[in-house]
Amino acid sequence: MASKFQAPRGTFDVLPAQARARARLQAIADGIFQRAGYETIQTPSFEQTDPFERGVGKSTDIVRKEMFTFEDKGERSLTLRPEGTAPICRAYLEHGMHKQAQPVKLSYVGPFFRHERPQAGRYRQFHQLGIECIGTASPLADAEVIMLLSDLLGELGVPGVALRLGSLGSLDARAAYLEELKAHLHRHEGDLTPDVRERIDINPLRAFDSDDDRVQGVMASAPTMLEALSGEDAEHFAEVRALLDAAGISYEIDPTLVRGIDYYTRTIFSFVCDALRAQSEIGGGGRYDGLIEQLGGPATPAVGWAAGIERILLALDEEEPGAGRDAFVAIADPEQRGRAMALVTELRNAGFSAEMDLGGRGLKGQLKHADRIGAARVLILEADGSAQLRDMTSGEQRVADTGNLLGEMTGGEA
Ligand code: AMP
Repeated sequence: MASKFQAPRGTFDVLPAQARARARLQAIADGIFQRAGYETIQTPSFEQTDPFERGVGKSTDIVRKEMFTFEDKGERSLTLRPEGTAPICRAYLEHGMHKQAQPVKLSYVGPFFRHERPQAGRYRQFHQLGIECIGTASPLADAEVIMLLSDLLGELGVPGVALRLGSLGSLDARAAYLEELKAHLHRHEGDLTPDVRERIDINPLRAFDSDDDRVQGVMASAPTMLEALSGEDAEHFAEVRALLDAAGISYEIDPTLVRGIDYYTRTIFSFVCDALRAQSEIGGGGRYDGLIEQLGGPATPAVGWAAGIERILLALDEEEPGAGRDAFVAIADPEQRGRAMALVTELRNAGFSAEMDLGGRGLKGQLKHADRIGAARVLILEADGSAQLRDMTSGEQRVADTGNLLGEMTGGEA
């Protein structure tokens, strides 16, 4: 019977079949992160609003329209975290991690919140996993984090993945470039849609994202940040590319690549998947050399990425089958309940998955139930104290010695 209550718009319940697929993804990711020395960090689901406004940027869609911001009872402004990097940088400073050996390599997973228009692959509560490599400007770090996301998608078997790569230059170079881009947009104001025109001075880079034909025409002749890259920025980008080439990771250079967050500097990248339609980005990130300083810390270069768990699962489009049970203990007589419970406990303590009937079924009903939950064997306790072990695949049944239960389970002596 359906209730009149539903999960809020843009949110969803993770049911057991999906939870299994998530657990598989998580186990693969954990292995990759651990082998590369990325240790887990967890930050709260909400933070003070300020780090997001400063870090993500006041002109971004995330801060302008998508944050779930509220006042607590002490009239402090709090925000359900829309992304993970600013909170991790806050934690890095709060816990003096800048005094540890650098770089500090961290991984995380958890729920994030954005008030977006819900559709397939875009939700208001979604889950990201990601890594951050904080405290090094080396292009090796850029290449390492990109390779780890590539490995993760490869090991999971996500089909049709492509990597797009760009560079935004350092903060100063980017500021100079943005002035040039704004001037270009102002010269072509007549060909721009109202929303792009309104944002010329707030967020000119987003014009590259417009679907409008005339705007795209204007952007085709716009200067790109890649053309404007100079000196150390250009060198850094060339080294990242050379390292990816050496690692055999293919990518496309995308001179118009932009991200919806302001803290990025130098390398940015995006993994897209053609199995996903409108929301084709499965994960992405880049370098954010100015963020920690913006949050009040020392100048600290860093690079990282986040990937959307729901998007990865959508791209994989497969369900993880249930694991079944090693054993089910059935009783022919209710008097055997206590004994059944003791045997189930013995099996569980020895590492087997085991269940018994909790619903007061007759023996026939118990066997049916054992079959439905995928029990490999059923131990039937008879009223006279004897027991039978039935193999549910072959249907074979034989007398069993419950005093040697573990031996019976492995088919030999205990
Ligand atoms: P971002 O934090 O915006 O760089 O996004 C990183 C990744 O998170 C994206 O590539 C998506 O896979 C995922 N993502 C971002 N926003 C959403 C959303 N509203 N719903 C589901 N996944 C999202």
